[in-house]
Amino acid sequence: KPVLAIVGRPNVGKSTIFNRIVGERVSIVEDIPGVTRDRIYSSADWLTHEFNIIDTGGIDMGDEPFLEQIRQQAEIAIDEADVIIFMTNGREGVTTADEQVARILYKTKKPVVLAVNKIDNPDMREMMYDFYSLGFGDPFPISGSHGLGLGDLLDEAAKHFPDTEDIDYGEGVIKFSLIGRPNVGKSSLVNAFLGDERVIVSDVAGTTRDAIDSPYTFEDQEYVIIDTAGMRKKGKVYESTEKYSVLRALRGIERSDVVLVIINGEEGIQEQDKKIAGYAHQAGKGVILVMNKWDAVIKDEKTMNEKTKEIRENFQFLDYAPILFTSATTGKRVHNLLPVINRVFDNHAMRIQSSILNEVISDAVARNPAPTDKGRRLRIYYATQVAIKPPTFVVFVNEPELMHFSYERFLENRIRDTFEFEGTPIRIITRARD
Ligand code: GDP
Repeated sequence: KPVLAIVGRPNVGKSTIFNRIVGERVSIVEDIPGVTRDRIYSSADWLTHEFNIIDTGGIDMGDEPFLEQIRQQAEIAIDEADVIIFMTNGREGVTTADEQVARILYKTKKPVVLAVNKIDNPDMREMMYDFYSLGFGDPFPISGSHGLGLGDLLDEAAKHFPDTEDIDYGEGVIKFSLIGRPNVGKSSLVNAFLGDERVIVSDVAGTTRDAIDSPYTFEDQEYVIIDTAGMRKKGKVYESTEKYSVLRALRGIERSDVVLVIINGEEGIQEQDKKIAGYAHQAGKGVILVMNKWDAVIKDEKTMNEKTKEIRENFQFLDYAPILFTSATTGKRVHNLLPVINRVFDNHAMRIQSSILNEVISDAVARNPAPTDKGRRLRIYYATQVAIKPPTFVVFVNEPELMHFSYERFLENRIRDTFEFEGTPIRIITRARD
């Protein structure tokens, strides 16, 4: 999918516009502890166009000076995006910082669309003329708070979208990626996978715009390791920025069926681990939790149980994810991963027959009656699976407002108890039957 990036100095309203464009995708993000709410990257669509969008303003640059942050954000946009939206604030006119951004953007051949935000009504249009001086042609007036002008802006951006077809490896090929903080052992694990003498590594690595995929075969099953954080080309200055590596990881997650979230067993669980795991969960991918560097952990026969418990407590939103312990350096237990990856891949693509599904739902309702509100009771008429990867179920009811989060969770658990969905999130959508 094409990538659209929003750049501009702080306080021009980038996040508001980002949220507007991303739309309801953000509001359906579950409010669960540990799942991050600051979104800097999301899929979005406009008319027939599907794309990914980055809010570079959300990329945390730490303590860098102001102008340096703006410069780095603009450079990330130039590197990562196919089309750049350069945002300014119509109420403040062109500022020195805007000119700084412009100067960096002159260096790219990528299309730049200039947006002037906070033009909340037509009387304010003349405030826009100033912005021609930035040298990016016609500025597009928008209002983030009123949601005006976005259609025209996105039409213009979409004109410049390139054809970015992803490599098609075929249906039965398992695409997986490894994500985690720096130094947890991602590259070492990849090497451990590919270094197994029974593995047949393809000669030709698939190359996408920003990653090198590693296709290989093991016991007649084909796999592709998606290189998420540029693991093979470390060392670019800004890759040291944690948020930036998250951005790379997010794009890798999107192309994967199964995501291995790697935790450093030696250091233990950190906040950032939960954040990274949250992205895999939100993306609806199969997820496996892997505690690596297990060799470096001082342990007795109880340690594995204790660690499992600790991981469960810290990653409650991933209660469906299997947990494995590995050592990339000694190679111990690494071979346990592939069978689990295979299983999670199958579960993620599982289809349940409607007749069996509806038996499970009626049985669930019989055990635990549907919620009522102000004398009205939720009635469930029918459920059906509408998608795989992840398995997605639509439940047709009388009044969707009567469905509570807790009841949805109960239905999900009943479905999980009946079918083998280990490792995959499942989604339930409640709809009114016409
Ligand atoms: P990445 O940044 O996540 O790709 O991490 P690397 O694979 O580069 O590993 C970072 C460091 O941890 C290297 O020095 C590795 O040798 C070391 N390391 C990786 N896996 C293990 C492991 O299982 N056990 C131990 N003791 N060290 C490991």
